[in-house]
Amino acid sequence: MAKKLKVGVFSFSCCEGCQLEMFQMEGEILDLFGEINLVNSRLIGKRGKFNELDIAIVEGSIISAKEKKELKEIREKAKFLMAIGACAVTGGVPGVRNNISPSIKKKIRGQMKKHHLEKVHNLAEIVKVDYNLKGCPINYKEFVVVMNQIVRGITPKDVDIPVCVECKHNENLCLYKKNKACLGPITFGGCDSVCINEGFMCNGCRGFRPDGNLKTTLKRIKRTGMDEKDLRILLDSFHSLGARGG
Ligand code: SF4
Ligand code: SF4
Ligand code: SF4
Repeated sequence: MAKKLKVGVFSFSCCEGCQLEMFQMEGEILDLFGEINLVNSRLIGKRGKFNELDIAIVEGSIISAKEKKELKEIREKAKFLMAIGACAVTGGVPGVRNNISPSIKKKIRGQMKKHHLEKVHNLAEIVKVDYNLKGCPINYKEFVVVMNQIVRGITPKDVDIPVCVECKHNENLCLYKKNKACLGPITFGGCDSVCINEGFMCNGCRGFRPDGNLKTTLKRIKRTGMDEKDLRILLDSFHSLGARGG
C-alpha cells in the first residue's frame, strides 16, 4: 500500500473560518483521509510532532515575530505549502492595519504587543508559497479539487479571469447598470461570482489581478457617487490593493 502523505494544517492571525470551511467536506474529506495522514490541526485538536511534511496548509496573516519564525519553520519542513484564504494570500482583514491613518496607528500602538510587527504580512512576503487558494472564506469544493491535484503531485493552475467573466456567464445584470459599485473587473475569479448572484457587490476577497484595469474601475466607481473615504475602505477591505502594490 502507498505511504500516506503527511499533512499539517496551521493557523496564524485570522478567524479560522477557512479551516472551518475545509472541514465541511464531510464525505470528500473522508476520501482524502484515505490518502493523507493529518498530523496537525488545532481546530480538530491534533497536535502531532513531525520533522517533515508533504503538504502544509496555512491560513492567517503574519502579525508578529513569533508567527514569522513559526511560518519559516513550517516552510523548512514542508515539501509543498499552500496558503488558504485572503488573510494568508493578500493579508486579508488583518492587513487593513497597514493602511490606517497615522493618528489611528498611534492610538492602537498601545494595544500592540512588543513582538508585533509594524506591518501585517501575507505568507508570500515571508516564505515561498507553492499555491494560493483564494477567498474569504475559501470555497470547500474548490479546496477538494485543488487538494486532489496536490495529493497527486500536480500543482493546481490559477484561475486567471476576472469575476466579470463568471458574472456574465451567470447572466447577472451588471451592478454598474444600476449605478452600484463593484470590484469584479479587477478581482480574480473562481468563485462563480457568488456575491453578485446574490445581489451584493464584489469587494475583492480573492485579490486583485495584476493586469486588472484599476484606473478605469476607479473612474466607474466614482461615477456611482461613492466618496473617496468609502472608496479607500472598499479597495482595501482584504488588503487586496496593498498586496497588489497600489
Ligand atoms: S480569509 Fe476570511 S474566513 Fe479565512 S481566516 Fe481569513 S477572515 Fe477568516
Ligand atoms: S462589474 Fe460586477 S456586476 Fe458588473 S459584470 Fe463585473 S462582476 Fe458583474
Ligand atoms: S464575488 Fe468577489 S467578494 Fe464575492 S467571493 Fe467572489 S471575489 Fe470574493
